[in-house]
Amino acid sequence: MSNRRRSHNSNQPLQKRVLSPFFKFLKPGLDFVLPQMCLLCDEETEKGMVCDNCLDYLPLVNPPVCQHCGRPVKKGPLCHLCKKEGRLDHGRAWMVFIPPSDRLIHHYKYRKKTKLAHLFGRAMASLIHADHLLKNADVITPVPLFWWKRLRRGYNQAALLSRIISEETGIRTQDILKRVKNTKTQTRLSESEREKNVMNAFTLHTNSFKNQNVILIDDVLTTGATMNECARVLKEHGATEVYSCVAAITPG
Ligand SMILES: [Zn+2]
Ligand SMILES: [Zn+2]
Repeated sequence: MSNRRRSHNSNQPLQKRVLSPFFKFLKPGLDFVLPQMCLLCDEETEKGMVCDNCLDYLPLVNPPVCQHCGRPVKKGPLCHLCKKEGRLDHGRAWMVFIPPSDRLIHHYKYRKKTKLAHLFGRAMASLIHADHLLKNADVITPVPLFWWKRLRRGYNQAALLSRIISEETGIRTQDILKRVKNTKTQTRLSESEREKNVMNAFTLHTNSFKNQNVILIDDVLTTGATMNECARVLKEHGATEVYSCVAAITPG
C-alpha cells in the first residue's frame, strides 16, 4: 500500500472535513472544484464515482454461467433456479452480487447515486454487444416500479439503465410493462414467497413487441422471480424470446 493511500485512510475524507457542518448545503455547488471521493474506499478519484483501483477489484461474472440467466455456476448449462422454473431464454449479468458490488447497488438504488447508471449501463451495453443473441434483440425494456415507489424514490433505477444501454447499443428502449401491484420488498422473502409476491404484478403499456425479441433490464437479479413473471407476461402477449441483462446477479 502506498504512503499516499495510508495518509488518506488515516484521515476523514477532505470534503467532509472542510465543509462540515455546512457540507450538505454547500456540496452541490462545490462538486466542480473539490475532488470526488470513491464510494467504496473514500480515496480521491478524478472521474466517475468509483476509483480505478476499486474498479479493478469488482467481482465480475466469469464463465461458466447459466445459459438462461447468466448466473455464475460451477457446472452448466443451467443454474438450480432456472432448472426449476426458468422463463428467460438467455441472459447476461455484469457483477456478482457480493461485497463490494452489493454496496454499489445499494448506493445506486437507495442513496440516489444515479450517476452510477453510466458505469453500470456502459458495462451492460458491452455485454450486449459481445453476445450473439442479445445484440440482435429488437427492443429493451426496464422492469417497472409501482408508481408510488417510483414517486418516492424519484427515479426507476432500471429505466435509467435502459436509456444508457439504448444510447450505447442503438437498440430502442420502450416502457412495455406496467407494475399494477405494490409488491413487498423481496429481500426477506423465500423463493416461493417471492413467486407469490410478484404473481400477476405486471400488465402492459403496449403490445408493439409482438414477434420480437425483448431484453428485460434490471439492477439486480436474485431468485429471478420478478424477471420470470415479466417474461411470462411478455411471452403470453406475443414476444418471441425474452432475454435479461442486469448489473448484478447473486452467485449460484
Ligand atoms: Zn476506491
Ligand atoms: Zn439461471
